[in-house]
Amino acid sequence: MDVYGLVGNPVGHSLSAPMHEAAYDAQDIDAVYLTFEPEPSSLDLAISGAEALGIAGLNVTVPFKESVIEYVEPDDQAAALGAVNTIDFSTRGEARGYNTDVDGVSRALASRGVSLSDADAVVLGAGGAGRAAAWALAEAGASVTVVNRTVSRAETVAALVDGRATGLDDLGDVVRNSTVLVHTTTVGMESDRSLVPPEALHANLTVLDAVYRPLQTRLLRDAKAAGATTIDGARMLLYQGAAAFEHWTGTTAPVEAMDRAVRTQLDDAHG
Ligand code: NAP
Repeated sequence: MDVYGLVGNPVGHSLSAPMHEAAYDAQDIDAVYLTFEPEPSSLDLAISGAEALGIAGLNVTVPFKESVIEYVEPDDQAAALGAVNTIDFSTRGEARGYNTDVDGVSRALASRGVSLSDADAVVLGAGGAGRAAAWALAEAGASVTVVNRTVSRAETVAALVDGRATGLDDLGDVVRNSTVLVHTTTVGMESDRSLVPPEALHANLTVLDAVYRPLQTRLLRDAKAAGATTIDGARMLLYQGAAAFEHWTGTTAPVEAMDRAVRTQLDDAHG
């Protein structure tokens, strides 16, 4: 039996275990997916111990996505982003690191037929998810503007993708002039709030919200009301998980089974 898992702290409400176990069931793979919560000071031991024990692969989440890079061989994309969320131990002596949050964004948008080539796109937020989103959009040919509360962090992310950076005061204008918006701040998780002025949202816009708890965020409700195309955070989560599964198994992920498993765990089955 192969053992996979998620390393984070805390990992209590993770959706990854049901999502990956649904994939193993769908493809008759003899595997389990467990969650691990090492102390931050023990991360190096956790990774080398996992490899020594023959664990097949790990996902990595907050607060370890950046620090774990020291203990793996990141591919070029993960190295440029400075963050790894998937480790593949299948090559002995080499823990390979990937950033599948990038795939989460690009495949979620592609699955809805959103064209990014030459699009004007805005990334709201400049943390880990913002970095991955900016990379995905730029890689697909979009011009990227990063908008963040802390402008210096927006500038750092924009520099990675040859994009523009600005602060929240310009958000309405930037959104009005864009066809794609990826929201990657934590606003909307704890409270029913959105940073985007509703009057800036429009029918030529596609809005992907990385937040998946709740699924129908205030931003997505406002976007729908404005006639925009909306994609919820569960779809991004699904495709980052699908990309991890594909790195680990070399086979195409059963996304429908994985999607069903995620959505039954969340509060709305119609995202
Ligand atoms: P992070 O690195 O901590 O970044 C947080 C971002 O939120 C920063 O840009 C921060 O701005 C901004 N922010 C926080 N509070 C704010 C406020 N009150 N007003 C304005 N901006 C505020 O977090 P992350 O790892 O990127 O995750 C961000 C969100 O994406 C979370 O909801 C997470 O669950 C979600 N996510 C989803 C997926 C998925 O697959 N769906 C994957 C990864 C992450 P400052 O820089 O100014 O502090």
